[in-house]
Amino acid sequence: MDVRLLDGKALAERIRAEIAEKVNARIVAGQPAPGLASILVGDDAASSVYVRNKRKACEEAGMNSFGYELPASAREDDLLSLIEELNSRADVHGILVQLPLPPQINAAQIQSAVNVWKDVDCLHPENVGLLAHKGKQPRFMPCTPAGIMQLLKESKVQLAGAHSVVVGRSNIVGMPLALLLLKADATVTVAHSRTQDLPDLCRQADVLVAAIGKPHFVRGDWVKPGAVVIDVGVNRVDDAGAKSGYRLVGDVAYHEVSKVASAITPVPGGVGPMTIAMLLKNTLQAAELQIRR
Ligand code: NDP
Repeated sequence: MDVRLLDGKALAERIRAEIAEKVNARIVAGQPAPGLASILVGDDAASSVYVRNKRKACEEAGMNSFGYELPASAREDDLLSLIEELNSRADVHGILVQLPLPPQINAAQIQSAVNVWKDVDCLHPENVGLLAHKGKQPRFMPCTPAGIMQLLKESKVQLAGAHSVVVGRSNIVGMPLALLLLKADATVTVAHSRTQDLPDLCRQADVLVAAIGKPHFVRGDWVKPGAVVIDVGVNRVDDAGAKSGYRLVGDVAYHEVSKVASAITPVPGGVGPMTIAMLLKNTLQAAELQIRR
């Protein structure tokens, strides 16, 4: 069976171009450019790259990007004071706190401190509650899950009645994605590190999502023939042939799974670019919501 590549890069480029046009129209109409503040705590190499890419994407869309870097030794109070300042600034419409945070900082405390109208990652408990509530919507859709849903929609993947297995239950990917899939009328099973017989469970999925953080974890014989596979994982593996000394691979053993699945997201070029496109969409929406208020 020929596998279909779900090209997140191409779709994200289209979305980003549309957003840039809207931003430009706002500026021409005399409204302020949307502004995103991103906060990086510590010097994790992967997090630095993510924040740099997000900031660059903001600027390319004509938005203001305000970057803040705190040392790994920063105290929770330092971060809370910065968030308080950003909450009150009129030129900052969205606030992004890059995860993971160092162990001395309570991530839940920080996420609760972000103004709900600037919570472009949808991590504030009030927005998560709205996401979980049947018939309600959060102010912003969580970026990675929303990017996956958009990619599935554009690719005309049937979700209503489909069995979707999501491997991973993090606050940022697995859990909110499961909620969005439920809202799209899929039958959802969420798996995690304590799940029994994971390969057998995965084989029951019409739509299988891997958000685990372990390279090549999902094997070809875990996948039902014809299933749609979404690989969220971004893992660095050593590669002496690469200039950087590493390359990025997903949580799915691509060469095995692509022989069985009907459609699959590549890594890189699948979910990652969609996450950034959704962040821009949310930042623009935050600017629009704040003006209306
Ligand atoms: P977390 O580490 O927060 O969560 C990982 C999840 O995988 C947990 O729920 C964990 O279960 C589960 N898990 C771990 N080991 C196993 C196992 N052996 N069997 C079954 N489940 C297991 O990771 P994130 O959700 O933040 O990220 C997941 C991956 O997605 C990472 O590679 C990350 O880099 C990538 N990512 C990609 C993004 C993108 O835009 N492409 C955005 C965000 C993340 P338990 O809860 O029981 O511990």
